[in-house]
Amino acid sequence: MSAQGDRAAGLAAALDAVRGRISRAVTGTGRRPDEVTLVAVTKFFPAADVAHLAALGVTQVGESRDQEAGPKVTELGADLRERLTVHFIGQLQTNKANRVTRYADVVQSVDRDRLVTALDRGAALALEAGERHTPLDVTLQVDLDQGEERGRGGALPEDVPALADQVAATEHLRLRGLMAVAPRGLDDQGTRAAFDRLAALSERMRADHPEAGWLSMGMSGDLEHAVAAGATHLRVGSAILGSRPSHQ
Ligand SMILES: *Cc1c(COP(=O)(O)O)cnc(C)c1O
Repeated sequence: MSAQGDRAAGLAAALDAVRGRISRAVTGTGRRPDEVTLVAVTKFFPAADVAHLAALGVTQVGESRDQEAGPKVTELGADLRERLTVHFIGQLQTNKANRVTRYADVVQSVDRDRLVTALDRGAALALEAGERHTPLDVTLQVDLDQGEERGRGGALPEDVPALADQVAATEHLRLRGLMAVAPRGLDDQGTRAAFDRLAALSERMRADHPEAGWLSMGMSGDLEHAVAAGATHLRVGSAILGSRPSHQ
């Protein structure tokens, strides 16, 4: 087989394994399989891998670094781009907000008021320039770390209601839900408890914003806990694509 053929076969096997894990996790929770959306996190991997995954039925991809994601999305070509939903999931500097609104369908990592303002303005410019045709979907990233290790991105839980109201009041952003990364160093019980905290926060937010039902949580190592806690979006990278050059 060619190198590309090998890669396609490897991705197919890994994707199958992840889909199996998800369906086993869903079984027994009383949830429906179609309530859980797989976002394949392709950061550090080439556009060719995105094309292989799309051929295997993947429709949602996640990227976390603007300098890599912009050119990669362009390289996909219009046909493939049309069929994909691109999620930006990384920490985002305000001065990159304009760029991201040109190629992302969703920004999951919204965590502060200045970023909301910058994304709303960026989306307005992109709409005006014909570079996008729909409002930008956003989720609020929440910091679930109750210890000292803050600073990996994410709003504090107590700041979520005001941030949600701010997004809902914009013209060009659409509030879709919440996102979080489980804090490092927790055991299974601690991870599950962290995801349960996000689910509870989501339920409270939906009292005011019923349209914002997405719950993006769970990655390669902890997707079962996330599904059990009610995740609607899983962001899975290394379990599908292999290990990355540096752990991010
Ligand atoms: C890289 C990344 C992921 C995927 O992590 P894996 O452990 O490789 O599945 C998910 N979410 C965010 C925010 C990421 O940066």
